Amino acid sequence: MFSTMYQATGFKRALILCQEGKLEEAEALLKSLQEEFLAICEENEALKLQLSEVADVLDLADKVQFDGQKYWLLDEDERKGPFCQVCYDRDGLLVHLQRHDKHWECQSCRSLFMIPRNEKLPTQKKEFMRTTLKKTIPLFLEREMG
Ligand SMILES: [Zn+2]
Repeated sequence: MFSTMYQATGFKRALILCQEGKLEEAEALLKSLQEEFLAICEENEALKLQLSEVADVLDLADKVQFDGQKYWLLDEDERKGPFCQVCYDRDGLLVHLQRHDKHWECQSCRSLFMIPRNEKLPTQKKEFMRTTLKKTIPLFLEREMG
């Protein structure tokens, strides 16, 4: 319905109507073409927004690293996390894991991840998330370490 072909032929028809002196019909046609044009502009804006959200998510995916059982978020020399592998793979959500004595636990899906003896603790810099990730990303779940 919103095809450019339809509009092209619509404009041509309006021109022909004008040339034939059928001005009221031409006016009605131009009005409907204008409505379609505005609808297409809205759709275009929505698509642009969607595209930038996808680009942000891909940018995030670039920074997510899998250590064999959990995910970590990398930014230059900083490592944040860990995050639940099950939740990220299934829902695209980065859910912080809670640290226990010998394992990490996901508060969302209750998955457990054993802590290897040589695993380094992440450095904590809380500004990182806010500056790197925009509010438009619906996939990210921010949760404080408990
Ligand atoms: Zn989980």
